[in-house]
Amino acid sequence: MIDLKTYELWFVVGSQHLYGDEVIAQVSHNAKRIAEFLDKQELIPIKIVYKPVLTTSESISACLQEANNKAECIGCIMWMHTFSPSKMWINGLKNFGKPLLHLHTQFHRDIPWSEIDMAYMNLHQAAHGDREFSHLLTRMNISRKVVVGHWQHQEVIRRIGVWTRAAAAWSDSKEMKIARFGDNMRDVSVTEGDKVAAQMRFGYLVNGYGLGNLAQSVNAIEDERIAALIEEYDDTYDMQDKLRGGGEQRESLIEAARIELGIESFLKSNGFKAFTDTFENLHGLRQLPGIAVQRLMQKGYGFGAEGDWKTAALVRSMKVMAAGLEGGVSFMEDYTYHLGTGDERVLGAHMLEICPSITNGAIRCEVHPLGIGGKEDPVRLVFGAAPAQAINASIIDIGQRFRMIVNDVETVESKHSTPKLPVASALWKPLPDFTTATTCWLLAGGAHHTGYSNCLTSEHLEDFAEMAGIECLIINENTFESTFKQDLRSNQAYFN
Ligand code: MN
Repeated sequence: MIDLKTYELWFVVGSQHLYGDEVIAQVSHNAKRIAEFLDKQELIPIKIVYKPVLTTSESISACLQEANNKAECIGCIMWMHTFSPSKMWINGLKNFGKPLLHLHTQFHRDIPWSEIDMAYMNLHQAAHGDREFSHLLTRMNISRKVVVGHWQHQEVIRRIGVWTRAAAAWSDSKEMKIARFGDNMRDVSVTEGDKVAAQMRFGYLVNGYGLGNLAQSVNAIEDERIAALIEEYDDTYDMQDKLRGGGEQRESLIEAARIELGIESFLKSNGFKAFTDTFENLHGLRQLPGIAVQRLMQKGYGFGAEGDWKTAALVRSMKVMAAGLEGGVSFMEDYTYHLGTGDERVLGAHMLEICPSITNGAIRCEVHPLGIGGKEDPVRLVFGAAPAQAINASIIDIGQRFRMIVNDVETVESKHSTPKLPVASALWKPLPDFTTATTCWLLAGGAHHTGYSNCLTSEHLEDFAEMAGIECLIINENTFESTFKQDLRSNQAYFN
């Protein structure tokens, strides 16, 4: 359901008329080559569209206005090959409302020492042309990502690629509709928030639906469709005996399939990209949706349990950023600790709802009592997350504004089997170490629910936060508690 090929990014290059037509033609030729090169890179999943070189304030304003208006265009990469006096850019930039990446590069990597003359210097002067441009961006307080280096360098391509994924998620966020089945879990604070402020900030729309609406959709599913999905379950997963054909709880699997098809049909018919539910309100559903939520997340839907719409939106945005990458994204919760000194680990899981995209191992399909919610035994997929470098991200509402917190973690293979814990889980070591990471997370007010990914990095989330204009706190191998506390204080002053 996520196709990054539907998006495009414009490659916008500035110059001026002083150099004559021949130089502009050369600038144009070089810029086109760079745009075509970037477009071909596997690390850059979005189509890069070359735009004719801009040399007047009128053409700049017209181009940026067109970029604003074109739905497929999700942002611009800008570069000053020569000098482009930046007062020409003021009007265009003032109205420009999409993500901006300032690529500070130069066409030739090396100085041609024996050939270099003033003509060469005039053609290849991004070193000061981009300074003039960036001065204006700073003066106008326009947020952007700056990527520095030769356009063929892997690190430059990688950083552009990361930003293009964040830009796709940002575009998707502005069209996102989130369905809430039931309200917030009673008395819980962190999953609450201001939905109007969220729509103004992130663009997404959050609406609530009675469980009766969903139950109607679930009950309307035809038996043939359920039979086909059961066959898919049988073919895909390692089935617990009692769920197999003729097994004593085969009926639970049929009910789980009905719920999956019912939720999917509801989401599809109303164009939703994310949803929440809560075990406290399942009126009309016989089980807490387990396998249904897990498989819908795998298809690209965002999800938050206990009414957590902020995390549902974040998980969807992370799904967009991760489209086509090896690895996955899941709803997650810091559940239980292992506190052996020097060997501290966090066991992340949820009651049921972890996305199978984060495993590379076998997936079992099982049914067990839940012990909460008072419903029938729910069917769930059980697996362990793949060992990997991963992140946990949280967006919280701190009253006047939103804050993102991201922690780099190292997910490890568990040395222990947990036969009495039939849920999907991940075991990780937070960076830089358990004590620092956890202290900083708590001081920042980060949630227990997160978006977990083993294919995205904190840079993806940081780029996304920059586009949204929200605070982003990163806890990684370079974090110290004292400087983190100072960052919290400084940010409080900056954002308020
Ligand atoms: Mn929870």
